[in-house]
Amino acid sequence: MTYVVKSAVWIAVYLLFVLSPLLALLAGSLPPARDFWTEFSAALGYSGLAIMGLQFGLTARFRQVTEPWGEDVIYHFHRRISLFAVGLVIVHPLIMFAVQPELLVAPEFRDIPLGAVAAFVSVFSVVALVVMALWRSKLRIPYETWHLSHIALAVIAVTGGLLHMIGWGFYLVDPWKRRLWMGLTVFWLGLLFYVRIIKPLFMLRRPYRVTEVRQERGETTTLVMRPEGHPGFRFRPGQFGWLTVWGSPFKITGHPFSFSSSAAAADGRVEMSIRSLGDFTSGIPDVPVGRRVYIDGPYGAFSIGNPADMHVLIAGGVGVTPMMSMIRTLADAGDKRPVVLLYGSKQWDLITFREDLDALKARLDLKVVHVLADPPADWTGERGFLSADVLRRHLPKPYAGHEYFICGPGVMMDAIEAALAELGVPLMKYHSERYSFV
Ligand SMILES: Cc1cc2nc3c(=O)[nH]c(=O)nc-3n(C[C@H](O)[C@H](O)[C@H](O)COP(=O)(O)OP(=O)(O)OC[C@H]3O[C@@H](n4cnc5c(N)ncnc54)[C@H](O)[C@@H]3O)c2cc1C
Repeated sequence: MTYVVKSAVWIAVYLLFVLSPLLALLAGSLPPARDFWTEFSAALGYSGLAIMGLQFGLTARFRQVTEPWGEDVIYHFHRRISLFAVGLVIVHPLIMFAVQPELLVAPEFRDIPLGAVAAFVSVFSVVALVVMALWRSKLRIPYETWHLSHIALAVIAVTGGLLHMIGWGFYLVDPWKRRLWMGLTVFWLGLLFYVRIIKPLFMLRRPYRVTEVRQERGETTTLVMRPEGHPGFRFRPGQFGWLTVWGSPFKITGHPFSFSSSAAAADGRVEMSIRSLGDFTSGIPDVPVGRRVYIDGPYGAFSIGNPADMHVLIAGGVGVTPMMSMIRTLADAGDKRPVVLLYGSKQWDLITFREDLDALKARLDLKVVHVLADPPADWTGERGFLSADVLRRHLPKPYAGHEYFICGPGVMMDAIEAALAELGVPLMKYHSERYSFV
């Protein structure tokens, strides 16, 4: 199945899951109609809940689902559509209060109906979810703490929403409708159970062993890992996996890293090259050889494979890791097509894989253009940052004939995407991987 067909199928499945529970509400016996705004507000609430529940599916890392788009696009969609759903969920009570101000009059505590308590808990969780997701860095919440609370709040929000619907019971008087929505909620939470319990159980039986720890230039460490007691998996160059080094796969400690080794390794060996940045990555240079680790993968749509006259790889900093995998794989395959790597680094001595790239030139038609932000005094090469001018100076025309791959810091990627548009390269000719999901 082509990516276009696969994408269309998954979009149809998504719409089916969002719309069918809503349409089901309108089937069978119906309560007497209320005023327009009350009905409209109820529709918003139901829609918001249906979309929110499906977020568990979007983030369940189903390879089949994410394959046509890539993980970063799915997470981007998850963020955007969640905000939309949360908007619906919040507008729902606001309209109700405007239409029926008597709802605002607080009864005695013990007389507050369960449906109202559930609604309050659900909306509160939803607001907390958004605040923590949007301002995690500003609030200085560590990633793992945020991730755990994100899951807990999402479960509370969805369960609270369901209890509110059942407690209010307006549209769910038919037992089959109640069962449908309860079944859906169980399904959504089941997806979470699959990701957090079932999948780690499988990973536990497929561990990897660190067989080499290699220091690279630019505060980067390469872990060489071999499958233990299983054949490993096959990946496409440019893809990534979630790595768990400390603790079991049940812990929320998996971090995403691109594979930097050739995809042609026959023994299932994989390498990840990791730059020391924060808590987790700074511990990587101290990982002992022999340590048991877990890799969940492969994931991502950032990979060579389309027909191309030449591959243009544009990397900034540690964004070179997927490019290394592409270059090594093309070299192993004896590919004859030219490859140009435009590679932005800070300083000459900090260029990760500098010597490996030089060595690879002997096996591949590879041209490497280093762009240094802080070059030495005698540097005659490109200086500053990757830009449309750098591209013009080093790429043959027509620019639209090549296949482009971009990975690096967000600002660099924005600049390069704008530069490629300026050079008339169509969107379908460039592929990018952003190193931040959250
Ligand atoms: C698809 C993909 C491929 C990547 N490939 C590489 C690579 O090959 N080499 C490399 O050095 N880096 C890579 N990264 C970046 C790497 O995942 C982060 O630098 C690393 O997780 C930071 O963790 P930390 O605890 O050391 O830093 P922190 O300072 O704790 O985190 C820095 C930022 O990294 C992100 N992050 C932290 N923990 C996680 C997590 N568990 N899951 C998702 N994001 C997290 C958050 O946005 C956080 O703000 C990749 C990222 C993605 C999304």
